[in-house]
Amino acid sequence: KQVANILGVPFSTRGFRETVTYIAERIKNGQKTHVVTANPEIVMLARADRAFQSIVEQAYVVPDGIGIVYAAKWTNQPIRERVTGVELLEALMAEANKHQWGVYLLGAKPDVIRLAAEKLAARYPNARIVGYRDGFFRAEDEEGIVQEIAEARPELLFVALGAPRQDEWMVKYRDRLNASLMMGVGGSFDVISG
Ligand code: UDP
Repeated sequence: KQVANILGVPFSTRGFRETVTYIAERIKNGQKTHVVTANPEIVMLARADRAFQSIVEQAYVVPDGIGIVYAAKWTNQPIRERVTGVELLEALMAEANKHQWGVYLLGAKPDVIRLAAEKLAARYPNARIVGYRDGFFRAEDEEGIVQEIAEARPELLFVALGAPRQDEWMVKYRDRLNASLMMGVGGSFDVISG
């Protein structure tokens, strides 16, 4: 079975490498994919918020955290290992490096996102960082940001605005963003920049 249900959230049962292969294939086939790396906190958020629940039901949800792996074990469902946000981001950057994909980074504080972009560019020189932008913008800047991303046509769009806002934001603009993969990455840019 490809999906495990944890308190109403449909989790992928693929292991880490399988997940990377699956997402990379979808990108190569031009299939739009919204990835949510969900930990127990995200599951509780979805239970409390119908709109967010509907967003995760339509996303590809991966088990971010050992709590989800245990919850699957207790309910006799086949999730073998966790797929964390930072590790998945790095693995997808490695794919971007291999295939010269474009990558756009949105979110975190200005110096954090600049440093994260520099470090990722240095580590994955064949990935094309087509743009980046901090996550403390005003409502009136949003239209310009969406246009910038749409024109950059990145294969990968990583967004760190905190959950559930990052996922609401991506879903709101999904049809205009021209990104194959969009994924909320929470505090990952802070980790990468540090
Ligand atoms: N963030 C942002 N704009 C905001 C609020 C948060 O760019 O208006 C960034 C924050 O700097 C951090 C990331 O979103 O890099 C994740 O934030 P937080 O740790 O609060 O969220 P969580 O880890 O719970 O997803």
